[in-house]
Amino acid sequence: AREALFQSQKLEAIGKLTGGIAHDFNNLLSVIMNGLELLRMTKDPAMVARSVDTMSRAAQRGAALTQQLLAFARQQPLRQEAHDVARVIRSFEAVLRRALPDAMHLSLHMQDDLPQAMIDAPQFESAPLNLVVNARDAMNAVGQVQLALDAVTLTAHEVDRLPAGRYVRAMVKDSGTGMTPETMTRAIEPFFTTKEVGKGTGLGLSQVYGMVQQCQGALTLDSQVGEGTTVSLYFPAVAAADSSAHEERGSASAVKV
Ligand code: ADP
Repeated sequence: AREALFQSQKLEAIGKLTGGIAHDFNNLLSVIMNGLELLRMTKDPAMVARSVDTMSRAAQRGAALTQQLLAFARQQPLRQEAHDVARVIRSFEAVLRRALPDAMHLSLHMQDDLPQAMIDAPQFESAPLNLVVNARDAMNAVGQVQLALDAVTLTAHEVDRLPAGRYVRAMVKDSGTGMTPETMTRAIEPFFTTKEVGKGTGLGLSQVYGMVQQCQGALTLDSQVGEGTTVSLYFPAVAAADSSAHEERGSASAVKV
């Protein structure tokens, strides 16, 4: 019976998924079709420029949606290796900053001597960007986004179902609108979004959640309406004495793939 329930939930999710995508794509296509219609009717250079701009943005959004869908559908197995998470984040700090308008400030806080963590770097990289974009969208033009990295020692089940041990924690904190309790319980559902049609895909957090789960880590949300949101990601830390062993295992799996 449990299996049957699971199957029907899966079907329901797929149904929602298809409906959601069709809806988003239709909206984007109608923006492009309206733009083309306008181009046919006007020679005014300003109107033409604006219309081309809008169409191009709609096409870009469509492309981004496809990318997210592909990443989501692929659910590639992770190629976990021991990584210096701070270094991974620093390597694309500029991209994170570019995602924010001038009036929003991104501050990075990284604890010294962080242990390495077992992650798949390419899949991990989309997580901070997803979280920073969500932080931006939750803030009204001005605000603060903090990205902090530290190491924590947890007792069993202190965070979600994580076993006791040492973890590298990445936190993205914003001073935005915060989430209602309803939004918080649904936020990691695929295709759940409160953003206007065409703006949100509802795939960001579910993708991050999937990646973290595959790493045997955890994701937690802490949010207050009107105050802001903190999303924390936990990844198992590599014990210092182990790290050479993990590196070897890491390169072995890299050869296999
Ligand atoms: P999307 O950003 O496309 O809506 P996500 O899965 O990333 O998809 O987020 C789902 C929903 O969770 C958002 O629509 C929003 O309601 C809520 N959410 C996510 N991050 C934040 C945040 N930092 N502050 C407030 N709400 C958030």
